Amino acid sequence: MMKRLVIIGHGMAATRLAERIVDIAPNMYEISIIGEERFLGYDRIQLSHVLSGNVNPTGLLLKDEQWYHDHGITVKTHHKVIELHLKDKKIRTEQGFEFAYDELVLATGSSALRIPVPGAHLPGVMTFRSLDDCETMIQMARQQRNAVVIGGGLLGLEAAHGLNALGMNVTVVHAVSTLMERQLDWHAGKLLERELRNQGIEVAMDAKTTAIHGDHHVEFVELSDGRRIQADLVVMAVGIKPNVDLAKASGIVVNRGIVVDDFMRTSEAHVWAVGECAEHAGVIYGIVAPLYEQVEVLAKKLAQIPVESYKGSVPVTKLKVSGVEVFSAGDFQDDDHSNTLVMMDGLRNRYKKAVFRQKQLTGVILYGDTTHSARYSSLIRQGATWEDLEKAGLWGDKAESASVSTVETWNNDDIVCGCMGVTKGTILNAIKTKGLSSVDEIRLNTGASRSCGSCRSLVGQLLTYVTGNQVEDSNRLCACTDLTHEMVVEAIRSYHLYQVHDVMKQLKWKNSEGCSKCRPALNYYVRMVWPAKADDDPQSRLVNERLHANIQRDGTFSVVPRIYGGVTNSEQLRKIADVADKYHVPMIKITGGQRIDLLGVRKEDLPAVWEDLGMTSGYAYGKAMRTVKTCVGTEFCRFGTQDAIGAGIRLEHALEGLDTPHKVKMAVSGCPRNCAESTVKDVGVIGVEGGFDLFVGGNGGAKVRAADFLIRVRTEDEVEEWALAFLQYYRENARYMERTATWVERVGIEEIRKTLENTEQRVAYAQRLRDTLSRWRDPWQRIVSTDEERRYFQTVHIQPF
Ligand SMILES: Cc1cc2nc3c(=O)[nH]c(=O)nc-3n(C[C@H](O)[C@H](O)[C@H](O)COP(=O)(O)OP(=O)(O)OC[C@H]3O[C@@H](n4cnc5c(N)ncnc54)[C@H](O)[C@@H]3O)c2cc1C
Ligand code: SF4
Repeated sequence: MMKRLVIIGHGMAATRLAERIVDIAPNMYEISIIGEERFLGYDRIQLSHVLSGNVNPTGLLLKDEQWYHDHGITVKTHHKVIELHLKDKKIRTEQGFEFAYDELVLATGSSALRIPVPGAHLPGVMTFRSLDDCETMIQMARQQRNAVVIGGGLLGLEAAHGLNALGMNVTVVHAVSTLMERQLDWHAGKLLERELRNQGIEVAMDAKTTAIHGDHHVEFVELSDGRRIQADLVVMAVGIKPNVDLAKASGIVVNRGIVVDDFMRTSEAHVWAVGECAEHAGVIYGIVAPLYEQVEVLAKKLAQIPVESYKGSVPVTKLKVSGVEVFSAGDFQDDDHSNTLVMMDGLRNRYKKAVFRQKQLTGVILYGDTTHSARYSSLIRQGATWEDLEKAGLWGDKAESASVSTVETWNNDDIVCGCMGVTKGTILNAIKTKGLSSVDEIRLNTGASRSCGSCRSLVGQLLTYVTGNQVEDSNRLCACTDLTHEMVVEAIRSYHLYQVHDVMKQLKWKNSEGCSKCRPALNYYVRMVWPAKADDDPQSRLVNERLHANIQRDGTFSVVPRIYGGVTNSEQLRKIADVADKYHVPMIKITGGQRIDLLGVRKEDLPAVWEDLGMTSGYAYGKAMRTVKTCVGTEFCRFGTQDAIGAGIRLEHALEGLDTPHKVKMAVSGCPRNCAESTVKDVGVIGVEGGFDLFVGGNGGAKVRAADFLIRVRTEDEVEEWALAFLQYYRENARYMERTATWVERVGIEEIRKTLENTEQRVAYAQRLRDTLSRWRDPWQRIVSTDEERRYFQTVHIQPF
């Protein structure tokens, strides 16, 4: 019969424990997990990224509902355990449920502390521990302006960075003279302080909070030197307190945490504790890697598999603030008994320090370049000497040339993924024995890169090392990454990345803010993959796309309203003429795509021009579907075999507002005389007896290319379906900035035809494109109707005093 294993708390340690038990002892336990929060176990580490808008909360769950169901695990969310009946081996929840156990695990984690000052419980004062906290902060940041974060430790700085990214004015109030003083020394702390100020975060050092004031809501924070800092939101990030009350009330031995032995056993038989609530050898760990090491020991113990005792862990810290690379590990405080190596590069803002005791490396601080952080963690665990560091190319003459990480040269038992404790040997073995061919497959098989993701590029290097599949430079998305366009798109899908910054963070961009090449590409890719979830990031767009008009040589703009199929009327022409007069437009020009271009419009007049025109944007500035040029077709031409105007207008309506990897031009001609020049368009349609011929991949620009014949169809409905499917196939597979001409040549017209001839696939492609466009709203009309967006176009005149 299966034994009953009850786990109290559904956080990171509990979820990992359940996962390990079902892996190594699948039929041994009936597992129940009872958690106080509303959610299934989620990745708390990522809360800082959720706050800064770089990660969507929906992607945080460590395991989905189906996984618990598939493994027969009973889960109770929103249930607080309030009593342990150790004699009867039962527990009871606040809601009155009872669970009997054979083995009980306390994984209750910690709670955030509040400093006991007057006003500490005013509305608007909060802590940063849970997803609920995170959501409250995001809500408040939308409505309020000023935030004070009390505490300049890791959590405080990540909260400050997140609130700053949400647009709040943020001040960090820190009681001592060094930020993150438990993880950094004075030098690194000062570099960090300077960088945060550069990012627009105020920092008040040596500042002790004495009170928080406000009538019904926080209004300001008062410091011991009398300073008052305005605050609509105060986040206290002053430390954590292990959740031990439950254990204490039932007589289990508790110190600061629940006291455990080397196998995570508490003072009570059949009761174990693991994670942030547990105290081992007088130490409580507040980061995940040690907790997972504890879980590993406990899981094996519960599974009755021989296991070495837990001997404590090397604490490792990495700050998750974009633009700041900070890492520290082990004991890095120097004193009379230590030898210290320091390297300071003031030009590049880099600092590193290694501390040795009895010739063995005990601690490291890295600021500015954390490429080798995982390697240093391993070396500390191994008690490496100075010579070992030199041999590894980390210090000494060869250190600079080794600035590109050389994970290939590491030992097999060096840990590559610190959070999940996965060694280089395990990864190599998994790649070789299981034939893994992507970083994601390695993640699924070994766990490497699953938690904070900072080792992803190392894992990628190992994959390249084993398979020999070098990422060619020419295929790289840009110099900020070694990944190709295709690898990035794959990662966006598999990691559920919805924001440009998510992608850069998750994929360890070399330049955390990206560049003008990758930012627009990523903005396109996230929205192409996740049309319903990804938000447009205007800051990642080129200026023309940001302003929805083409900037001209003299700094004015051109405005091209959409004229469907090139067909206009007297009312539209009159409006255009009136606008041209009213805003003193110096030139009106007919474009090659049969549209009317108003040239020389001032930036501040753009919203008013759009409003007066009352027409939608012609997207003459964007990587988007531009125009559908038409000939007169059967309606007027004596040679016409098909209604070119009708088909063209229909296509232009169906595709209006579509973002594409590069600009897309289209044309419909009514007969093979091809007066609309359909064969040099990205998508060209030519009317023939009884139907239409479709051509794709044409180009009339600098490098002229005749379009390839794709298919002959009978009806306008089919024209629309094939055109939409082709464009969606192109959207999903082309690289950003790749015209259809290049893409069709690269992929081959036969391959494209074969794919789209499959009716099911064709319909699905067309439907995905329609779904994408169902969310489109004309940008001109959106800007015109939003005061905030209109203001963006105003010129600010600074008045002299
Ligand atoms: C914003 C933030 C950023 C972080 N960043 C990092 C990082 O970069 N790297 C890193 O390694 N670590 C980081 N951490 C710390 C890391 O998240 C924790 O170490 C880890 O989550 C602790 O896991 P745990 O399972 O012990 O506790 P928790 O994840 O806190 O889970 C404990 C759960 O038990 C529940 N519980 C408590 N009492 C009861 C009860 N009586 N009944 C039912 N349920 C109960 C709690 O509600 C909670 O859900 C971060 C933490 C935060 C808050
Ligand atoms: S393409 Fe044919 S139908 Fe169209 S204008 Fe030319 S001749 Fe007439």
